Amino acid sequence: MKAVVFEKFGETPTIQTVPDPEPAPEGVVIKVEATGLCRSDWHGWMGHDDGIRLPHVPGHELAGVVVAAGKQVTRWKAGERVTVPFAVGCGRCFECSSGNHQVCEHQTQPGFTAWGSFAEYVAIDHADTNLVRLPDKMEFATAASLGCRFVTSFRAIVDQGRVTPGEWVAVHGCGGVGLSAIMIASAMGANVIAIDLTDEKLDFASKIGAVATINAAKTPNVVKAVKQITNGGAHMSMDALGHPSTSFNSIANLRRRGRHVQVGLMLGDHARPQVPMDKVIAFELEIRGSHGMQAYRYQAMMEMIRTGKLKPELLVGKRISLDEAPAALMAMGGFEGIGIGVVTKF
Ligand SMILES: [Zn+2]
Ligand SMILES: [Zn+2]
Repeated sequence: MKAVVFEKFGETPTIQTVPDPEPAPEGVVIKVEATGLCRSDWHGWMGHDDGIRLPHVPGHELAGVVVAAGKQVTRWKAGERVTVPFAVGCGRCFECSSGNHQVCEHQTQPGFTAWGSFAEYVAIDHADTNLVRLPDKMEFATAASLGCRFVTSFRAIVDQGRVTPGEWVAVHGCGGVGLSAIMIASAMGANVIAIDLTDEKLDFASKIGAVATINAAKTPNVVKAVKQITNGGAHMSMDALGHPSTSFNSIANLRRRGRHVQVGLMLGDHARPQVPMDKVIAFELEIRGSHGMQAYRYQAMMEMIRTGKLKPELLVGKRISLDEAPAALMAMGGFEGIGIGVVTKF
């Protein structure tokens, strides 16, 4: 099969012909029809992820068609249209048994712990626990765009952030994660403030549900601005970018008993940012992470998509070919454009 391969961290990936994958006894092989481009792929390519063994094929936001299933797979067969969360649970550990596959102790991640979906085919283990059937009407590109940023934002807003109607929600950073969060929080009935450095992204944020915007490049004190708009601070706030300053602001702009959810990755030099711990204690603030979403929780999100309350297709950006993927991957270290780039031609 054709695949994007890198042999050294930070060196230009190339298109190579490599052996087709075989399904594990509990796994399947999926013919990839669409795969999203993500900043995590860039982190992996840069060598920020300990799990990667070289040579490596990146890609973890995928949708496609099952072409082969292992002997022990009971729920899936060739021909079914599917997607999969980026954190694949083993189905047997304590976390999986308690319903928390997203933090499985033995999780595998396509494109990190194993070869990923920047290829014609990808092998996914523990298929019965992790595959998600696609609604008939959903395009593969839209389905691929859900796999990482959209589902993580769904879990961050709905399950971790526990947003309720009428609350104020601040979203710091309007890339793929941030825009997804804005759409989801708004659909949940919250009043959303979008914060970013560019007016272009803030205008788009307003179109998909933000009721207020703050351009952090032109605002000397973002925390003060959020507190003014919300009359005392946000109930829930998210760092969707993953930077020490946005993380700090997202905690500092909360009102008493507010909830911060960290979704933007903090790796390398950013792994241990400053936290206003004085405020965390005095205001009884909550700080949580959000790491993908369990396959079984997709159903609630899929129903909101089916009824038109969520429109993830609006967040699909550029569609490119696999041949263009190496250059696009290397560019992910810079600031994202609007929308999630997806490889749709293999
Ligand atoms: Zn597990
Ligand atoms: Zn991703």
